[in-house]
Amino acid sequence: MSEEFKGKVALVSGAGSGIGREAALLFARQGAIVYAADLNDQGLAETRELAGPAAGSIRIARVDVAVEAEVAAFIQRIDQETGRLDAAFNNAGITGGTYRIEDYPTEDFDRVLSVNLRSVFLAMKYELPLLKRSGGGTIVNTASVAALTGPGGMSAYAASKHGVHGLTRVAAMENAAHNIRINAIAPGWTETPMVIANSAQNPAFAELARKAIPAKRGGQPSEIAAAAVWLSSPLSSYVFGQMLVVDGGMTIGGFEF
Ligand code: NAD
Repeated sequence: MSEEFKGKVALVSGAGSGIGREAALLFARQGAIVYAADLNDQGLAETRELAGPAAGSIRIARVDVAVEAEVAAFIQRIDQETGRLDAAFNNAGITGGTYRIEDYPTEDFDRVLSVNLRSVFLAMKYELPLLKRSGGGTIVNTASVAALTGPGGMSAYAASKHGVHGLTRVAAMENAAHNIRINAIAPGWTETPMVIANSAQNPAFAELARKAIPAKRGGQPSEIAAAAVWLSSPLSSYVFGQMLVVDGGMTIGGFEF
């Protein structure tokens, strides 16, 4: 494994499961000190255990990304312990319930926007000054194919992810001249534990979803994490303000001839 991130400090939120866990592991295997945040303590502990020999470089933190004081304290801890930040992956998110707009509970809508969108604003607000003091770095925010499409029943989720795309572009514009590259990833149908459990409960729907993906399979969390880590690495040094769609072709449109 390469030492691409040796001496670098990476932050990953939602690191207790799925895509965030795989990204934390990949950063750590490539030499980074990783600050892994999540609400789920047990998930975080498992992530660290899975790192094996790299476990010592994963520092875990229980953080609610929707609470400003917790985000501020988390970044302050990173600053105090390392004095720098090189790569931030703002990835924690929730799907929320599925209801038509006229039935969508307003408090649920607010919660999804808070955890998925306001959290990305808060994260960048506190990460940017430390990235600047580190001489530059990268931010990757997790959007979704729902930042491009209109999945029925998922108004809050789609609105939040469209918002993440917009915030990413503004942040990229504001910081490109400060040697800070900011991009987003848009995962498609990714087989995290929750998606696998849902598919087991509703195999007909899962089958239908897979058929609609040109690659004819769901993505693995590690395949999404690899894209996020690439966007955090010098290999993508001229990529600014983009949303990289990683979806097995789901949003190509058109049809196979
Ligand atoms: P996941 O549920 O496996 O992981 C999400 C993690 O975020 C969990 O560990 C959870 O505890 C944490 N989290 C939730 N709310 C939090 C909060 N307020 N503060 C801190 N941590 C919190 O799901 P995943 O698929 O790995 O999701 C990661 C990101 O990818 C999310 O933003 C999600 O919207 C996005 N995404 C996932 C898919 C998919 O198919 N799985 C598709 C598109 C986008």
